[in-house]
Amino acid sequence: MPQYIIPNRLSEATKVLKEKRGKCLIVAGGTDLVIKKADEDMTGKVILDVSQVEEMRKIEVVDDALLLGAAVTFAEIGRSPLIPSCLDGLKMAALEVGSPQIRNIATVGGNLGTSSPGGDINVVLMGLDTQVVLASAGGTRKVSVEDFFVGPQKNAAAEDEIIVSAEIKLPRRSQYRKLALRRALALAITALGLSCYDTGNGEVWYVSFGALAPTPIRAGRAQDLLAKGYDIDTICAAVWQEVDSLSGKRRNSLRGSIEYKQDMAAALLREMLEQWEYMPSIGE
Ligand SMILES: Cc1cc2nc3c(=O)[nH]c(=O)nc-3n(C[C@H](O)[C@H](O)[C@H](O)COP(=O)(O)OP(=O)(O)OC[C@H]3O[C@@H](n4cnc5c(N)ncnc54)[C@H](O)[C@@H]3O)c2cc1C
Repeated sequence: MPQYIIPNRLSEATKVLKEKRGKCLIVAGGTDLVIKKADEDMTGKVILDVSQVEEMRKIEVVDDALLLGAAVTFAEIGRSPLIPSCLDGLKMAALEVGSPQIRNIATVGGNLGTSSPGGDINVVLMGLDTQVVLASAGGTRKVSVEDFFVGPQKNAAAEDEIIVSAEIKLPRRSQYRKLALRRALALAITALGLSCYDTGNGEVWYVSFGALAPTPIRAGRAQDLLAKGYDIDTICAAVWQEVDSLSGKRRNSLRGSIEYKQDMAAALLREMLEQWEYMPSIGE
């Protein structure tokens, strides 16, 4: 039988992780981990349940950012009055996950921890100006979400680090859209996160896609063209090209060929920009 520890404070959790290094498995909702470890012999292991850690249960706006605790569930995001409407995309992504049963226990930290390229929260966070906050017994550090995902189901958290929260800078507007075979309990064929920020030097846009490459990706060329005010046709053509190069060796998957996904990525972006009544300032 493994030992099961449920700390209430972050300092207790990081202490356990340090002391039981190499033997410790972090669990939150368990919707990924329990499946992954179902057939594994857990004798001698320590399961560190972070679902009750106070510091990781918070949803709060501080200055110009939303602090979203890693132990917050998708259902809590979906019904939280504390999430401003400029982060509607985050709510949409949370409500796209699985089914009500999954959303009641699955967490932000678990999505980041699994680091699936099509994880709904991963894609929406990548489509926003996000920092991932990591803690160990030695202290806390922040990693930009782009540097957090380092490979297929791999991330930048060290063995002795816990994902504490996501710090999301508040955009002017954001949205999320998932393309899947059906409305519930379906993994993404692709998904799009889009956000726009006003800065002193003009607009900054984030465009992210899921399930197209080994990690969630940002379409940097499309982001630049949006910031410069190019027309939708030019931007969508750039996305089509960019998806081809960013997909790397991941040419085809069970859920569609890369050619199909290129078309769908461009179509999702076109649809969202048209809904936003995006007005180009150059091009056409
Ligand atoms: C039926 C079903 C449907 C699903 N549908 C979807 C879907 O539509 N979209 C989607 O994105 N996902 C889906 N998933 C996958 C899963 O629900 C999500 O990835 C979820 O976010 C995992 O969260 P969790 O809290 O259950 O993670 P857990 O299973 O507890 O943990 C997952 C991984 O993250 C690590 N971890 C968890 N919390 C932390 C932390 N704070 N710090 C460091 N590491 C941590 C764990 O060690 C483990 O490796 C589905 C799963 C099931 C079973």
